[in-house]
Amino acid sequence: MIRAFVALPLPDPVRQQLNLLQHLLPLPRRLPPENLHLTLAFLGEVPSDLLEDGHHALAALRAPGFTLTLRGVEAFGAAAPRLVYAGVAPSEPLLHLHRKVITALRGAGLAPDRRRFTPHVTLARLDPQRLAEADRLRLVSAMVENAGFAAGPFTVDAFALYRSHLGRDAAHYEELARYPLVAAHA
Ligand code: ATP
Ligand code: MG
Repeated sequence: MIRAFVALPLPDPVRQQLNLLQHLLPLPRRLPPENLHLTLAFLGEVPSDLLEDGHHALAALRAPGFTLTLRGVEAFGAAAPRLVYAGVAPSEPLLHLHRKVITALRGAGLAPDRRRFTPHVTLARLDPQRLAEADRLRLVSAMVENAGFAAGPFTVDAFALYRSHLGRDAAHYEELARYPLVAAHA
């Protein structure tokens, strides 16, 4: 079984900006900068032959490239943040790509996560149980202070299939395949 997900890789300068943002926030644990990405579909543990089928479906997918802007700092888990992320400025082409990826994966017999798509770039995961009230308040005010965060617009010209190797500290992502998007002005 292979733990896999589909995501947009982010350009180095954007990851550098995100890394800076990570350090402006009092976070107990941060995603390593090389792990920063925008998840399109989480597949979980899948048999390798099924993943191979998914790969062929993704390789056959045609969607236009686009530009994307990251904007704002938010959290899932309003009262008790469990995941802090950089937001994504509304993007119709991103939603279009997401739909195409989901359709392609389902067509190949895979069952991508069905939760509503909230585009985000995870900066840190937290254990709300272990977050003292004072630390939570410090985090929330730092998020408010950095609410004006923006990165981009940057070009999205490909998406990728990743294998996730879970580790004790951080997961390690291995890029299995990269799928070019059609040039925006072609
Ligand atoms: P760790 O779980 O050790 O913190 P990780 O979350 O970075 O590491 P994975 O759990 O393999 O590694 O997740 C890979 C990607 O898929 C991440 O973007 C993660 O947020 C997303 N993801 C993981 N589980 C789900 C899920 N159940 N539904 C939607 N997305 C998920
Ligand atoms: Mg995880």
